[in-house]
Amino acid sequence: MAEELFHWINGERVKGKSGRFGDVFNPATGEVIGQCPYASKEEVDAAVANAKEAFEIWSETPSVKRAQVMFKFREIMLREWDNLAEAMGKEHGKTLPDAKGELARGLEVVEFATGIPHLLKGENSQNVGGGIDITSIRMPVGVVGGITPFNFPVMIPLWMGVMAVACGNTYVNKPSERDPSSSLMLAEMWKEAGLPDGVWNVINGDKVVVDSLLHHPDVEAISFVGSTGVGEYVYQEGCKHNKRVQSFCGAKNHMVIMPDADMDNAADALVSAGFGSAGERCMAISVAVPVGKGTQEALIERLVPRIEKLSIGAYDDPNADVNPVITMQAKERIEGLITSGVEEGADLLVDGRGARLQGYENGYFVGASLFNNVTENMNIYKTEIFGPVLSVTTPQTYEDAVRMVNEHEYGNGVAIFTRDGESARHFQRNVDVGMVGVNVPIPVPLSFHTFGGSKRSKFGDTQMYGPESINFFTKLRTVSSRWPTGGIKDGVQLAFPSN
Ligand code: NAD
Repeated sequence: MAEELFHWINGERVKGKSGRFGDVFNPATGEVIGQCPYASKEEVDAAVANAKEAFEIWSETPSVKRAQVMFKFREIMLREWDNLAEAMGKEHGKTLPDAKGELARGLEVVEFATGIPHLLKGENSQNVGGGIDITSIRMPVGVVGGITPFNFPVMIPLWMGVMAVACGNTYVNKPSERDPSSSLMLAEMWKEAGLPDGVWNVINGDKVVVDSLLHHPDVEAISFVGSTGVGEYVYQEGCKHNKRVQSFCGAKNHMVIMPDADMDNAADALVSAGFGSAGERCMAISVAVPVGKGTQEALIERLVPRIEKLSIGAYDDPNADVNPVITMQAKERIEGLITSGVEEGADLLVDGRGARLQGYENGYFVGASLFNNVTENMNIYKTEIFGPVLSVTTPQTYEDAVRMVNEHEYGNGVAIFTRDGESARHFQRNVDVGMVGVNVPIPVPLSFHTFGGSKRSKFGDTQMYGPESINFFTKLRTVSSRWPTGGIKDGVQLAFPSN
């Protein structure tokens, strides 16, 4: 029996009232395991109204008290580790070790947020003129909407939600309708941690919910993570309605392999970064760029046997390397793109189409696939495939590799593998990409740095988590004050005040 899921509003489970539901599947078996309620505009309005009311109290709660909730939540998250991983595995399909890796990266942000009193310290200048002191203070913005994708159902709601509430805002999460359960679990855990009702809400659904948040006059800020088409719409529509908006979007991450690189190390890194989580990561490497024919040959001869060894499997199969993709539509789309790559003339060295697993015949599996001799005009080079497909594209020179990276429409992550410090340094200064790895294939920065891409991988000018995120989740107020105890008397002065 498929379980009926719920919304989480004002600290309690609320049944969907719109009459609209969507199926949640187990991607390994194709079974329907949940019914996700799709909220109406009226249900979103109710959640926002509660969040607005909760803001009155939460925004006035001392930051040290807010930090104490973060410490408590951290303990609960560690206790619920296996349950969260299991929930993710069932609905998303990712393997348990991969799910636990995601949890660890989400937990980091909670740990960072325990230092919120320090992070919210303002600035003060004494006696800037005529007995005047200036103080800059950071005020929370209000109700924040968080729209999150399927591929990191715990980490991404934490990336944005934790920093939002630590700064004194209230948060309404709209998780992906494909795997909403773990976001609901987080909400229950926040209640247990002592977060007041109404501060962390979950409202499930589709575009109706997203549009209701984007148009709601009481939603002050929107943080979005997902595909570029939707992210650009969310950014433009939110800005049109006078909200601050940040959208973190799609990617096509290149890894440049220089002739002097350690080829075994580079091949291992490519397989991990290309096929982990079935390539459904915004920081997955999807294009390998060996510089020159010799590098290409050395790489291909190492990649093929490594990729052929990978096995598909369900989330709880300890031998699984490549998990199923999220939906049947995703499987069909990815396999269609592989076919189009063959038709475009790329060499398909490892073909993952039609992968089947005994006992899981209805699962959405796509085997790891490798294309060689992919060129920049091909659709498989331009498009974010978001599946276990790696393309090898070979420029003759390093300069050409940098040009390729820079001319691609996306700029989320990029890596260079080399033993040469000079090329590594040149590379990091000359690629227009948000996150750069030097012999690191997935350069997702830790929580005390910050995350964000470039070009059409990000809309808006603020970053996710880290000290930078404080700029998004607070508004700066600057107070000039004077206590004229010394008998200062300016008299009437109509000229613009100056020193
Ligand atoms: P998606 O864009 O389909 O969905 C993201 C969110 O938007 C979901 O909550 C979804 O319900 C909602 N949504 C979907 N269609 C909508 C529409 N037409 N109008 C309004 N809202 C809509 O993305 P996804 O498939 O869940 O996630 C995969 C995508 O997310 C990939 O492109 C990946 O690169 C990207 N991603 C980016 C980052 C990053 O930080 N840059 C991180 C993770 C994922």
